[in-house]
Amino acid sequence: MTRPGGTWRNWGRSASVRPMRVERPRSPEGIQRAVKAAAAQGLTVKAVGAGHSFTGIAVAPGVLLELDDLQGLVSADAATGRVTLLAGTRLHRVPGLLRRHGLAMENLGDIDRQSIAGAISTGTHGTGTGFGGIATQVRGLTLVTADGEFLRIDETQNSELLHGAVVGLGALGVVVEVTLQCVPAFVLHAVDAPVPLDDVLPRIHERADAADHLEFYWHPHTAVALMKTQTRLPESTRRHPVPAVQGWIDETVLANGVFGAFCAISRVVPAIIPPFNRLAVQLTGRGEYTDASHRVLIHHRNVRFREMEYALPAEHLVPAFEELQRLIVDRGWRIEFPVEVRFAASDDLWLSTASGRDSAYIAVHRYWRADPREYFDAVEQIMLRHGGRPHWGKLHSLSADQLRERYPRFDDFVALRDRLDPQRLFGNRHLERILGA
Ligand SMILES: Cc1cc2nc3c(=O)[nH]c(=O)nc-3n(C[C@H](O)[C@H](O)[C@H](O)COP(=O)(O)OP(=O)(O)OC[C@H]3O[C@@H](n4cnc5c(N)ncnc54)[C@H](O)[C@@H]3O)c2cc1C
Repeated sequence: MTRPGGTWRNWGRSASVRPMRVERPRSPEGIQRAVKAAAAQGLTVKAVGAGHSFTGIAVAPGVLLELDDLQGLVSADAATGRVTLLAGTRLHRVPGLLRRHGLAMENLGDIDRQSIAGAISTGTHGTGTGFGGIATQVRGLTLVTADGEFLRIDETQNSELLHGAVVGLGALGVVVEVTLQCVPAFVLHAVDAPVPLDDVLPRIHERADAADHLEFYWHPHTAVALMKTQTRLPESTRRHPVPAVQGWIDETVLANGVFGAFCAISRVVPAIIPPFNRLAVQLTGRGEYTDASHRVLIHHRNVRFREMEYALPAEHLVPAFEELQRLIVDRGWRIEFPVEVRFAASDDLWLSTASGRDSAYIAVHRYWRADPREYFDAVEQIMLRHGGRPHWGKLHSLSADQLRERYPRFDDFVALRDRLDPQRLFGNRHLERILGA
């Protein structure tokens, strides 16, 4: 919560602002009033979610709208799987809201701290060659636009705007409600295992296509991929969750406690990074368990980091990944955080990073106290040569002209923005850079 007169900061501590005013509307009409008042005073206005974007996309120098009092279920239909959520609803609350309807979200990212509106606005995704990002689950949304009016966009009302408005970058208006197509609740059987990279890379697409969900982490300075492979099963399947003590050791002690201490020490003694990474792949990344989908897909990330992630045409994954490996060796860098590789099916949302092409994602991270620029800049050049598109919520250096070349519907989106927000009431400096003034 941002105190009046206080400073708002994002999770990665890579963006901050002292807004002129912070408002916490309690109803859709409260959002309308806030938008109209900001417009009348000549202030910009912007909704923020959980502040989990690494870029300045959520920075609100004028009126900052916190939607934490706008959480919960508006409606749910177990027969059709259609569910409408208030825009501020945090993803971690969704399983509890859907339980009695026997439903689940079709796919999720790595964490569940984000708001549903924030997650779809930047194209948040998980993994699975047969599945799109969270935005592909959207069947409708309601916006408050710059004129302070509600605009419903779904398959029957203003349907021509739906594919443009879902990954809306916070640039089109304030999302008030989101309607999702959910699926019957399901269980995932998970196998986590280290596999030599030399075995993984030549057959990665075969492996990814054979699994419902597949991703891997590569700790630089090792020759191992920590593979995570998950199979979807009916909800009635007998569950074998990770035992509580084991889960605590894996997530709290190793993945966060020990890893956090290692990251802090590695700032002063970078020489410990390669041996620590080799130890990490020997001690972690093994397991087999079966549990509710969200329990398997979601992780807890307490060690702060900064991240850049690029979506590539799937067939570019291996050459780009190999260039990244060579880069780290050639430059003699010591990189403490793993590289993450995921997949998504092609979709038809204008600004989805997987728009129009089956995609593979390569994400690089640095501890938040380390300067990521040299590493990220060099990795970005590789990703750009391979036709990459940056994640809208993660660090990158592209401007509107470079992004335009990468999205066939970019100018349609800009035209939609011109129509819905001609005065840039929802603008900020980051949007000016990536979309133009
Ligand atoms: C630890 C961590 C793990 C992550 N894991 C993943 C992952 O697995 N996959 C992935 O793809 N991404 C991941 N991300 C990125 C993250 O999912 C996105 O940046 C997401 O947008 C954050 O959601 P948020 O609710 O925090 O939104 P914010 O960052 O607060 O806002 C994002 C954008 O949404 C807009 N917005 C928010 N609410 C509204 C609204 N009501 N109306 C209009 N616009 C709105 C904001 O103005 C801004 O433009 C991760 C980030 C972190 C820090």
